[in-house]
Amino acid sequence: MVDGSCTGEIHSMNTCNVENCGKLCLAKGLCPRHYHQQKIFGHVLKRSKFDPNEIIKYEDHAEVIMFNANHEEIARALIDLENIPLIQQFKWFLDCSTGYPSTNI
Ligand SMILES: [Zn+2]
Repeated sequence: MVDGSCTGEIHSMNTCNVENCGKLCLAKGLCPRHYHQQKIFGHVLKRSKFDPNEIIKYEDHAEVIMFNANHEEIARALIDLENIPLIQQFKWFLDCSTGYPSTNI
């Protein structure tokens, strides 16, 4: 973490302190998105509903992790490695009525 050297206004030289964010700093060392999360939730969220699903690759298959609205893992779907390019462009969630992964295409 860099010390919170940016306060109040946008400095083109400073980027958000959140790991792997890289967006321009708005205030208190945070970009607009993370600044508002800090303001609303009191902390920076690890994920948001706009983040893509996490995909973990293994030797012969992959797992697509699905999260609930509280950003807690609720399910994993097993897929073949060659299907990753087909599914990773979509946002997947668990359809509670069927118990199967679902997406809005
Ligand atoms: Zn940020």
